[in-house]
Amino acid sequence: LAKQNGRNSYRFFTSEIQSRSARILSLENALRYAQVRGELSLHYQPQVSLCDGKIVGVEALLRWHHPEFGMISPCEFIPIAEESGQILLIGEWVMRTAAKAMKEWLDIGFPAMSVAVNLSAVQFHHAHLSKLVSSIIDEVNLPACYFEIELTESVTAQNPVHAIATMNELNAKGIRLSIDDFGTGYSSLSYLKRFKVYKLKIDQSFIRDISIDPEDREIVKTIIALGKSLGLKTIAEGVETKEQLDFLKENGCDEAQGYYFSKPLNVTDLEALLKHPEIILRKNSNNPQ
Ligand code: C2E
Ligand code: MG
Ligand code: MG
Ligand code: MG
Repeated sequence: LAKQNGRNSYRFFTSEIQSRSARILSLENALRYAQVRGELSLHYQPQVSLCDGKIVGVEALLRWHHPEFGMISPCEFIPIAEESGQILLIGEWVMRTAAKAMKEWLDIGFPAMSVAVNLSAVQFHHAHLSKLVSSIIDEVNLPACYFEIELTESVTAQNPVHAIATMNELNAKGIRLSIDDFGTGYSSLSYLKRFKVYKLKIDQSFIRDISIDPEDREIVKTIIALGKSLGLKTIAEGVETKEQLDFLKENGCDEAQGYYFSKPLNVTDLEALLKHPEIILRKNSNNPQ
C-alpha cells in the first residue's frame, strides 16, 4: 500500500510540475504579444507627504489583463519576463508610458509630483540604461526631477561596481533613486554611503504588524533614524490603517503609500483623485471627519 501511495504522490507531483511549467510557457508566449495587443497598462498609487498630506508622487505599477487568463499578477509575470529577457522591451514601455503620463499631468496643471517606476536587475545591469532613461525623458520632454527609479537591495548587491557607476550616471542627469522593500534584502550599510540614494522605501512587512509587534516598531524607527542621519527621505509602504499612519507620523517618517490613502488607480481614477486632493488631505489630518 505504501508503495502504491508513493507512486501516486510521485505521479501527482510530476503532473503538478508539468502543469506549472505549461502555464509558465504559455504565459511567456502570451507575453510576447501583450504589449502590441494593448493588454498591458499602468496603475498609479499616490505617495503622500506626512507633513502636509499632499500627494508628492505616484508609483507606476504594471498590470496585465489577458483575454483568456484574466488579470495576472506582476509577482507572477515579471519573473517570467526577466527569465526570458522580455523585461527589457516591457520595461522600456513602462518607463515611456509613465514619463508621458507625468508630463501630461504637469501640463494639465496638477501640482508638481514625481512618477516612480520599478526596475528589474536585468534592466538595471543592461548596458546603456542611463542613456535609455535620459533619451526617454528627453523625448517626452519631462524634467528629470519628476522621474524616479525604484530598485531593490538585491539589484545593487549583484554587481556593486557596475551599480555604483550606473547610479552615478543617473544622478548626474538628475534622476532620483529609491531603494524598494528596504530592510528585506542584503544591503550592507556601507553601500548606502557609496550609493547615491534619495529615498528608502520601508518594506510593507515591517508596517503590517506595527501596532502589535514591538520588534517591527523598533525596526521602523531605526530605518527612519538611519534615513535622517544619512539625509535620505523615508517612505512607508503598505500603510492600511490610521494606527500605522499615526505611528509613522510620531516617528518622523516623511511619506506614506498604501491602501489607507489609495489603492493603485487607473489613469481615469487617478485624475479624478488629483482633482479632489481634499480626500487625501482629510485622511492625513489628525481629526478625519
Ligand atoms: P513593489 O514595487 O514593492 O510594489 C508594492 C506592491 O504592494 C504593489 O503590488 C502594490 O499594489 C501593493 N500595495 C500597495 N499598497 C498596499 C497596501 O496597503 N497593502 C498591501 N497588502 N499591498 C499594497 P503589485 O502591484 O502587485 O506589484 C508587485 C510587485 O511587482 C512590485 O512590488 C514590483 O516589485 C513588481 N512590479 C510591478 N510593476 C513593475 C514594473 O513595471 N517593472 C518591474 N520590474 N517590476 C514591477
Ligand atoms: Mg516599488
Ligand atoms: Mg516595495
Ligand atoms: Mg516588492
